[in-house]
Amino acid sequence: MRIVFLGAPGAGKGTQARRLEGRNGWPQVSTGDLLRSAVSAGTPLGRKAKAAMDAGELVSDQLVMQLLDERLRQADCNDGFILDGFPRSRSQARLLGELLGNSGQQLDAVLMLDVDTGILMKRLTGRRTCSATGKLLNIHFSPPEELAASRAAGGKLIQRDDDTEETIANRLAVYERQTRPLLEHYAHLLRRVDGLGAPGEVFERVLAALKPTLEAAPADG
Ligand code: ADP
Repeated sequence: MRIVFLGAPGAGKGTQARRLEGRNGWPQVSTGDLLRSAVSAGTPLGRKAKAAMDAGELVSDQLVMQLLDERLRQADCNDGFILDGFPRSRSQARLLGELLGNSGQQLDAVLMLDVDTGILMKRLTGRRTCSATGKLLNIHFSPPEELAASRAAGGKLIQRDDDTEETIANRLAVYERQTRPLLEHYAHLLRRVDGLGAPGEVFERVLAALKPTLEAAPADG
C-alpha cells in the first residue's frame, strides 16, 4: 500500500501516519524528519537545506529527492509506505510519479487532513517534543496528565526551530501556494478527512476513508 498524506503544516499528518504505521506496518516516510536528521547530523545536504527550512520555504527538489530516493530503496518500503510531507508541489508530484513508475509502482490513495487555519496556528505554536520520551505534545491541547508524565520523566519540552510565528505564517502561505494545487492533481485518488478533534477520533476517520483501499489491497501490500 502506497499512501500520500496531504495537509497543511500542523494538520496532523505525522501523528496519523505514525498511527497507521503502528497498525499496518508500512513505514511513515517524512521528508521533514529526513531533512531534520540531515541537519542535526551536519551532513553537506543538511547544511544546504537548513536556511530554507528555517525560513519556512521548500528545500530544493534535488535535495529532497536525493533523501527520498535513498529512503524508499530500503527494504522496509518494499511492500508500501506512507509519505508524510511529500510531495509538496506539482514538480515533486511529477518526480514521485517518475520514481515510482521506474520500478512499476503506483500510489493507492492520497489522504487529505482538513483543518481550519486558525487552529493550525495554535497547534504549531504550541507543539513541543518531550526530550525524555520523544512524544509529540502540545502546550495548548495535550491532556494535563500527558504533560505531567513528561515532567515526571525528566523531559524538557523542545520546540522545533521552524515553529516560530513568523516561520509558521510562511509555511502556511507556501502550503496554500504550492501544495494545495495537489488536491486537484490527485483528485482521482483523493480522500478528504476532517482533521479536527482528538487524534484517536481523527484516526478512526482515516481508517474509514482508507477502508476501500485497504480491502482492495493484496495481503502482501
Ligand atoms: P510541516 O509540514 O509541519 O511544516 P515538515 O516537518 O513536514 O513540517 O517540514 C518542515 C520543513 O522541511 C518545511 O517547511 C520545508 O522547509 C522542509 N521540507 C519538508 N518536506 C519537504 C519537501 N517535500 N520539499 C521541500 N521541502 C520540504
